[in-house]
Amino acid sequence: MKGKNWREFAPPEKQRRPLYRQSEIMPPKRKRRRRRGGLLRKLLLVMILFGLGYGGFLVYQHFAYPYTVALDAGHGGEDGGAQGIISEVWLTEETADALEALLKEDGRFRVVRSRENGETKSITERNRKFVRSSPDLVLSIHANADEDGSGYGFECYPAVPGMENHEESLSFARLLASHMETAGVRLRGEDGIRFGYYVPQEDGSSQKMLVESSDETVYEYDTFGILKNVDCAAVLVEQCFVTNESDVSLFGTEEGCRKAAQAYYAAILEYLGAEPVAQTE
Ligand SMILES: [Zn+2]
Repeated sequence: MKGKNWREFAPPEKQRRPLYRQSEIMPPKRKRRRRRGGLLRKLLLVMILFGLGYGGFLVYQHFAYPYTVALDAGHGGEDGGAQGIISEVWLTEETADALEALLKEDGRFRVVRSRENGETKSITERNRKFVRSSPDLVLSIHANADEDGSGYGFECYPAVPGMENHEESLSFARLLASHMETAGVRLRGEDGIRFGYYVPQEDGSSQKMLVESSDETVYEYDTFGILKNVDCAAVLVEQCFVTNESDVSLFGTEEGCRKAAQAYYAAILEYLGAEPVAQTE
């Protein structure tokens, strides 16, 4: 009887054994979970290392480059700006390249360009890039134009009265105008400094309103987008008239753009209180 009973119970035992072996062969769910946990740990480690690396990079940049200049060559890509004897965008890129070269040669400046040469980028995108880079100043380069070619000279547009960065922008604008005047430019209006506003019209469009820098009224109008949201001096310059022969010959040739860049560079040094680098022959 005992033997018979044993045979009756034997098959279930045999069934259990293969099941147990199968579980040994097949990776149990717990093991899979452990692998996933390992991946997460690796990912976390990579993120920590990346964070440390990026932090180190920022610290390095801070000490290697005490100053950050945000540089905007106006227009670009599909938007060529004003057309005259030369195109505005040619002038803006030529001057921005020359200024960037001077700042890099100096060695103390991190230069953040709002766009690549030839690239189409909206004002909002450019401005966001500048805001992210926490610059010490913003310079946007443009050129003027008119219908009959009679207009001439330099003018610049700092962040307008009422904006948090107005005072420092006005100081920087005064230095830009002063160094450009030394370079031989004729200043437009009272002192080459104006404030620009967009006045909303009934039909939904906006009309540009320009006032002299002596008008410190706080208008509730919008201003140039590139000057906004940054916690530093921000100025837009109109280097010369691309429609005026004399202006183009002075500040719209390769040499003229380099001359303007030199003046902007001198203004940047003075504004930031950075000693000029000794020139080596
Ligand atoms: Zn322009």
